Amino acid sequence: MLNMHPSPPNSPQLVDTLRRPLRDLRISVTDRCNFRCPYCMPKHIFGPDHVFMERPQLLTFEEIERLARIAAGLGVTKLRLTGGEPLLRRQIDKLVGMLARVPGIQDLTLTTNGAALTPELANALQAAGLKRITISLDALDDATFGAMNDAGFTVARVLQAIEAAAQAGLLPVKVNMVVQRSVNAHSIVPMARHFRGSGHILRYIEYMDVGTTNGWKLAEVVPAAEIVRLLDAEFGIEPAGRNYTGEVAERWRYRDGSGEVGIISSVTQPFCGDCTRARISADGRLYTCLFAAEGHDLRTLMRAGADDAHIQRELAQIWARRTDRYSEMRSRETIPLHKVEMSFIGG
Ligand code: SAM
Ligand code: SF4
Ligand code: SF4
Repeated sequence: MLNMHPSPPNSPQLVDTLRRPLRDLRISVTDRCNFRCPYCMPKHIFGPDHVFMERPQLLTFEEIERLARIAAGLGVTKLRLTGGEPLLRRQIDKLVGMLARVPGIQDLTLTTNGAALTPELANALQAAGLKRITISLDALDDATFGAMNDAGFTVARVLQAIEAAAQAGLLPVKVNMVVQRSVNAHSIVPMARHFRGSGHILRYIEYMDVGTTNGWKLAEVVPAAEIVRLLDAEFGIEPAGRNYTGEVAERWRYRDGSGEVGIISSVTQPFCGDCTRARISADGRLYTCLFAAEGHDLRTLMRAGADDAHIQRELAQIWARRTDRYSEMRSRETIPLHKVEMSFIGG
C-alpha cells in the first residue's frame, strides 16, 4: 500500500515514510569529467586506470526522457542535469529539448563546471529549453582554483562561461563554491565581492562527506554560521527566507540591495525533513539519497521491456518506502558505509 495524501487540485500525492513528496529529479548523464576536484574525483582514484562507463551502459536520451516523463506523472516538476560533467555528453542540447517537452516539468536546469560552456553551446541550451544554469567555481585566483580542479583550468575560462550563460539568458546564473577550510576559505569574501551586484547568485556549499574517496574530515568544513559571520562583518547581510519548501540553499541578501547569496549547509544544518529529491545515475539506477549505498536498477527493467505503468509502479514503491535522512543522522565520525561517489550520481 503506497503512502498517498491529498494534494490540490484533486490527485493523490505520492509521499515517502516521512511524508515527503517526490518533486525533483537529478539526472546524471555521464560519470566522466574533465576536472579532478580532489573533493569529488581525486586523481589518485580517478586516474588513467579508472574504468568509466562504456556507452551501452549509459541511459540513452530516449530512456532518460522516458524516466523523466514517468517521474513527472508521480509529481516531479523540476529536473536538473548533472554528472560527472554533463557538457561532456554529446548533443546534450538535444536531450534538453526532449526534457523541456515533458508535460508537468516547470523547471529544467543543469549544473556544470563551465569549462566546455562556449557562447554557442549556452545559446543552444537556452534555445532547446534550458531555463537556468549553475556553474561551479571555487576560487578567483588561479593558484587556489588550479588546486581545486587539479586539471589545469583557469578562473578566466569559468568566468567567461558565466558570462556566456548570462548573455544567453540563462538567468539568474548560480555559482556554486565548495568551501574547504585549508584550501579556499580565504576566497569566501573575495568571491562575494566579485559577484555582488552582478545579478549572479553565489552559493557556498559546506564540504560534504559524499562517497568514500575524498578523505573527508569535519575539520575541513567551514560551518554556514561562520560564512554568515564573515559576510555580515564585511558587507552586512540579512536572511531572505527560502523561495519554496525543499529549497536546498538558505538565502541571505546584502543590506544595501546589491543582491543575494545562498548557503547550503547540509553538514551543520541538515535539511532532510524537506528533501524531495531523487537521483538517477548515468547507468539508470535510482538513488533516494545523495548518501545512499545502493541504487535501484531501472535500466534493466526498461531494457527487459517493462511498460510505463510497471516502471511507474516500481518508482512509486521505492519512493513510498523511502526513509533516508542521512545528513540528520551523520555522526562526528565518517560513517563506515560504502556510499556512492558524487561523480556517479551527480550533486
Ligand atoms: N561537474 C559539474 C560541476 O562540478 O558543477 C556537475 C557535477 S558536481 C558533482 C555537482 C556539484 O557538487 C558541484 O557544484 C560540486 O562543486 C559539488 N560537489 C562535489 N563534491 C562535493 C563535496 N564533497 N561536497 C560538497 N559539494 C560537492
Ligand atoms: Fe567534475 Fe564536478 Fe566532480 Fe569537480 S565537482 S570533479 S567538476 S563532477
Ligand atoms: Fe536528502 Fe539524503 Fe541529503 Fe538528507 S542526506 S537532504 S535525505 S539527499
